[in-house]
Amino acid sequence: MTAPDCLFCKIIQGQIPCIRIFEDDATLVFMDIMPQSDGHMLVVPKQHGANIWDIDQPSAMAIMTVGQRLSLVAKNALQAAGVSLMQLNGAAAGQTVFHVHLHIIPRWAGSDLRMHAREQADRIKLVAIAEKIKAGL
Ligand code: AMP
Ligand code: ZN
Repeated sequence: MTAPDCLFCKIIQGQIPCIRIFEDDATLVFMDIMPQSDGHMLVVPKQHGANIWDIDQPSAMAIMTVGQRLSLVAKNALQAAGVSLMQLNGAAAGQTVFHVHLHIIPRWAGSDLRMHAREQADRIKLVAIAEKIKAGL
């Protein structure tokens, strides 16, 4: 189920910290530490797989079901105008962490996305945003 030397497996197992938003049997949701917008979260399946075709169908359905719920929670909690969902497979597609994840990226009219996986956000600010999202669960 897990893979050695996988960053997100280590986060799922609690070996590396994260700012946790939600967890169930099949998924974990946490704040992206290099957010492309305020409220950027990642939904990861607990089953390890590098790409979307490497996980079983229940895991694929679970990340989308949780992503559907959390995108609306974040939209309401942060008064976003929209939400982008993104899921990258392969370095050629821009993937940098090779454990499947669904990006939830709240959007506001006229505000461009920050660069992908580029700049680490201030932890205090990330925690404050996470608290707002969790209050809406
Ligand atoms: P991708 O390029 O689609 O594989 O996205 C990987 C995402 O993981 C990027 O948005 C990174 O900012 C994010 N990321 C990398 N390391 C961590 C970490 N330790 N905790 C939370 N997010 C991370
Ligand atoms: Zn993994």
